[in-house]
Amino acid sequence: MKASQISFRTLREAPAEAQISSHQLMMRADLIRKLGNGLYTYMPLGLKAYRKVENIIKEEWNNIGAQEFKPTVIVPGEIWKESGRWDTMGPQMLKAKNRGEQDMVVSPTAEEAYTAIMRQGLTSYKQLPINAYQINTKYRDEIRPRYGVMRGREFNMADGYSLHADDESLDATYQDYAKAYHRIFKRLGLKIIPVKADTGAMGGSGSEEFMVESPIGDDTLILCDCGYAANVEKAACKEDTPEMAKTDAAIEEVATPNVFSIEDMEKFFGTSSKNFIKALVYRVINSSLDLSKAPHCENLKVVKEEKFTFYPVSYACVLIRGDLEVNEAKLAGLLKASEVVLADDEEIMMIAGAPHGFVGPVNVKCPIIQDLSVNNMHDAYAGSGKEGFHIKHVEPARDYTAYINADVRTVKDGDTCPHCGGKFHTSKGNELGHIFKLGKKYTESMGVTYLDKSGKAAVPTMGCYGIGVDRVLASIIECFHDDNGIMWPMSVAPYTVAIVPIKYKDAMKDAADKLYADLKAAGVEVVLDDRDERPGVKFADADLIGYPVRVTVGDKNLPNVEIKMRNQADPVLVPLEEAGAKIAAMVKAELDQLNG
Ligand code: ATP
Ligand code: MG
Repeated sequence: MKASQISFRTLREAPAEAQISSHQLMMRADLIRKLGNGLYTYMPLGLKAYRKVENIIKEEWNNIGAQEFKPTVIVPGEIWKESGRWDTMGPQMLKAKNRGEQDMVVSPTAEEAYTAIMRQGLTSYKQLPINAYQINTKYRDEIRPRYGVMRGREFNMADGYSLHADDESLDATYQDYAKAYHRIFKRLGLKIIPVKADTGAMGGSGSEEFMVESPIGDDTLILCDCGYAANVEKAACKEDTPEMAKTDAAIEEVATPNVFSIEDMEKFFGTSSKNFIKALVYRVINSSLDLSKAPHCENLKVVKEEKFTFYPVSYACVLIRGDLEVNEAKLAGLLKASEVVLADDEEIMMIAGAPHGFVGPVNVKCPIIQDLSVNNMHDAYAGSGKEGFHIKHVEPARDYTAYINADVRTVKDGDTCPHCGGKFHTSKGNELGHIFKLGKKYTESMGVTYLDKSGKAAVPTMGCYGIGVDRVLASIIECFHDDNGIMWPMSVAPYTVAIVPIKYKDAMKDAADKLYADLKAAGVEVVLDDRDERPGVKFADADLIGYPVRVTVGDKNLPNVEIKMRNQADPVLVPLEEAGAKIAAMVKAELDQLNG
């Protein structure tokens, strides 16, 4: 390709809103342009790199026997009502009505579409497993789109889905995808950490996220030297509440007029926060947990939709040891809720009978969720449920009844690994991909059946597998750049070689044209910078766009040309006659290494 034919304009400065390197460089190199908040257009050079990522995913997924298909992006709201996620997906799902007043959804993901498509024509166990994927537009109305295409509103996901007759078959396909993911990320030059993950709104059992470590990562990773790696939304640590002595003393109220925080309590009572039971009231959105027998839930509004029952708004009081924090993702998962948020002042008064700081376990008017850290606590301190008072001598098992007892704590640096007893450390990461064993969540709710070997109707089990193509592309730039620009791995560069003639005329033009023809004939993706620009501008653009190999053609050096790798400081001089073959071999060697 001739540079003069590619419509691009590079920028010296990135727009102020671009905070991270990949976003800045993608804007400066004109790989993407912004059309609206969280909405980016791929420009020709950006699209070339994007397609390479897509192709690598396709090749590796085709290799494990997955078939490509292509559902629509706009899907009927009806199928989301069947699965129950019409209500639980929350405001990130963009809904619209068509002219016939029918509910429509702009796909944020495609479990429903896949299930609805594949149940058509599924009759016999002989058709299973089915394994199909798409690479297609998704839309999520992210509350805070940021970092360019790293977290956009419209983005592209490679998403595979599989249906199986039994767990062994699902497990085999799940492992195939896991292996394919490792191959994909290796070919892209990325070092990936697979971590155990939260299954969140998706439901289901086994799941792993594929993370790249990054200081600008949105996820917190909990890592142990023994190899344990988990997203903080899922990580569990060894219980570490110290042995405490039981008390027979009855609960006693203590006037604590100026005590509001845990620190205030430590000072006032002269004891460690580990002896306090912290109580937090949460507003729980769209919980599908059965609360019909839960305390104080008799009058909650219940919505019943065909097979689904959920509570649009309910409350939970979470008890946790005073020095620990609640993990809201764990809590939402436990309550099968789309979201949990701390209750506001008015709600706290209504539920706890006291303002924030005085909430206690004893008289709270909602179900109690007790973190495991409280189980071993005795003779503890807590809020009283009355403004200006705390209580002491609290015995958890004696003085109140928890509705659910589970792990909802946020694991942190220095907590103990339950597997090896070592200490956890934390790191930041970005999720590039995800594999899930969904089980029968969608197939059951959406009525998918087939006839098994014995001729009986059975429900297939399901897996799903997603990679964010745009986020992968941005992460590659995040990992591979310097002050001058992008440093593409050979496998993803929009063009692998740039020929830069100092001036595109006379002998330099002839030499550049010959090299261009030689490289094209050798199958190398090459761009010839034929623009009428100063050499400094062309060099700066080549570095910014990040072509892995730059060949400078200058009359001082002819009949030699100068080859410089983007990731190496020093150029080498090579006779023009040999340059084509030599560069083709260099490109091939690096690609072989990535693909090997
Ligand atoms: P996150 O926690 O980062 O929001 P997610 O858990 O919602 O991600 P999945 O539903 O598992 O993501 O989607 C699969 C993949 O799609 C993710 O691993 C990620 O690479 C990509 N992805 C998700 N949301 C976005 C987004 N807003 N912009 C770009 N890519 C995204
Ligand atoms: Mg998300």
